[in-house]
Amino acid sequence: MFAFANAPFCTSTRLIAGFACGLAGIAALGQNAPSAAAIKVATPELRVFDPSLIDATVDPCKNFYRYSCNGWFKRNPLPADQTSYGRFTELEELNRLQLKQILEQAAVPSPTRTANEQKIGDEYASCMDVTAIDKLGLAPLQPELDRIAALKSLAELPALLAHLHSIGVNAFFRMESNQDFADATTVISFYSADGLGLPERDYYTRTDAKSVEQRQQYVEHVKKMFVLAGEPDAQAAKDADTVMAIETRLAKASLTITERRDPRNLNHPTDVAGLSKELTHFSLADYVAAGHAPASGKANDSEPKFFAEFNALVADTPIDQIRSYLRWHLLQAYAGTSLPESIETENWNFYAHILNGAEKQQERWKRCTSLIDREMGEALGQAYVAKYFPPAEKQKALQMTLAIEQAMDKDIDGLDWMSAETKVKAKEKLHTVMNKIGYPDKWRDYSKLEIVRGDALGNQERVEQFDVARDLAKIGKPVDKGEWFMSPPTVNAYYDPQQNNVNFPAGYFQPPFFSDKEDDAANYGDMGSTIGHELTHGFDDEGRQYDKDGNLRNWWTKDDEQKFSDRADCMVRQYDAIEAVPGVHLNGKLTLGENLADLGGLWLSWLAWMDKADAAHLDMSAKTGGYTPDQRFWIAYAQQWCTQTRPEQLRSQAQGDPHAPDEYRTNTVLQDLPEFGKSFSCKKTSPMVSDKPCRVW
Ligand SMILES: [Zn+2]
Repeated sequence: MFAFANAPFCTSTRLIAGFACGLAGIAALGQNAPSAAAIKVATPELRVFDPSLIDATVDPCKNFYRYSCNGWFKRNPLPADQTSYGRFTELEELNRLQLKQILEQAAVPSPTRTANEQKIGDEYASCMDVTAIDKLGLAPLQPELDRIAALKSLAELPALLAHLHSIGVNAFFRMESNQDFADATTVISFYSADGLGLPERDYYTRTDAKSVEQRQQYVEHVKKMFVLAGEPDAQAAKDADTVMAIETRLAKASLTITERRDPRNLNHPTDVAGLSKELTHFSLADYVAAGHAPASGKANDSEPKFFAEFNALVADTPIDQIRSYLRWHLLQAYAGTSLPESIETENWNFYAHILNGAEKQQERWKRCTSLIDREMGEALGQAYVAKYFPPAEKQKALQMTLAIEQAMDKDIDGLDWMSAETKVKAKEKLHTVMNKIGYPDKWRDYSKLEIVRGDALGNQERVEQFDVARDLAKIGKPVDKGEWFMSPPTVNAYYDPQQNNVNFPAGYFQPPFFSDKEDDAANYGDMGSTIGHELTHGFDDEGRQYDKDGNLRNWWTKDDEQKFSDRADCMVRQYDAIEAVPGVHLNGKLTLGENLADLGGLWLSWLAWMDKADAAHLDMSAKTGGYTPDQRFWIAYAQQWCTQTRPEQLRSQAQGDPHAPDEYRTNTVLQDLPEFGKSFSCKKTSPMVSDKPCRVW
């Protein structure tokens, strides 16, 4: 939930990734809101290859990122309510304006509204009605606070926790459905570590001065939230210390985000009965009964060490301390748009301002629009797609994807380090990849979700209950590979290793990333590299461990596996050496999958485009606006990454984002591709040409 503001291109947004990449979450995005009428005037023309952004005073062989983006930086000072602002944010802002128009229209009560229009429109109207929300204060949350206050013994905890989980409270652990690691055709119960208020476990263990300060600021924030919820000062301070103590214990027993990237660390098959035996102080039977979850059958205990600590913790922690911890997580879960603004502002102050450097909270309409996109993304997305993603666009996107898959086929043939045996398996996997473009074939059915105008908090509770029930209902049923884990208007994409499919939401196939007004050099340099990126995730250090059907099963010979690791280690060393902010180096192992995907993706797109250019007898020396086609390919690649980032956000990103910061996603990747240097006649000794380039795919 604590996603980074700009982390495009994910692997699966589910369990494996550890956090939902790309979603705006609590980090503030956006600039001042033009009115709907002003949209046309305020919208800049976004181009995939934009020569006006180039700074010709910079030597492209010295710093290609600056060369390609300096014009954009000059034109786009970082707005106060942003933690970072780049081309992804530019498009997100535009998409959000389009969604706002749809929502404002749906919010007008009318007997002709469809059922989905009533839901998204009334939820938007409820969210926007700050006066009503402020007037109600904490009253709508009181029944839940009372439930927690009524917890008298450990025996009552399982049923209460099941209820809190059903309304989206992330206390202690997570129980959800997921495909079985060993058999991707079945969906089973997954029990995973959770229950932290800071972004991830290392925030609790790092010993540098900044991290110590952040922990103090976090305890202060928890205290303020308790005070806002009506606790006296001294009690709030005591409860905040309790929260910190419990979370620190949970954090220390949790895997690091780097360890979580390896699915073998999460693969611990058991069943509900087996896990019940481990949890000697917590009745799993009571928990599953109250949560309407399966009482038997296969399960996965993602982190046995964590669950052992959880078991010990609930036994030796006084019940009043457990109540404080639960109360905090309830407040945190509902600290968004459905409670009074004082609470939301305090929440923003810690997560967006202190941790990531935002200076101003984003406008209410932006927060409400993002809320509906998260809650009912396919109801809103259906209206969005009808207006902004015509079938012809979908067809073009599919053709590009197929061309890049073909390039990968050829690339595998040409790999000098891989044996014929493993190549056959790799190609089998490649040929099985399912391409999902734009939006689902079958839209999600929201008919069982009730949205009541004027009941913002109740709506949020019902949305959570609807989602949890929908998720648990999948257990024991065949896998639905048509399901999407991102909404159609999202400016992002992902690869799902357990389903072996690539997913490109409609919201991404727009300028400045893709345009039918521009030529292949621009579109392949930009969107093509993203398609290649997602495809390469199927073959990165994590994705390569899954077979063509999504089973966690090794299909590599020992020798090939070693050769892959040796090549990957080159990239680990390369990124480990980068000091992104003073004192903070990038984590080569954490970012390996994304770095492999960046390099492989751009290379595949280059191959696909060269094939197309050959077939079309493209004159490679003919200049457009002063640039040859191949130069425009590389510039379009670089310009997708033009981004301004606050130092606080850059620090969070360097410590915990599996994606490298944008400057390195440009320069470091290009340094490994000698073809780039040739296009700009760079000397072999130029900073943009690596003397020992890394290469896997
Ligand atoms: Zn990625």
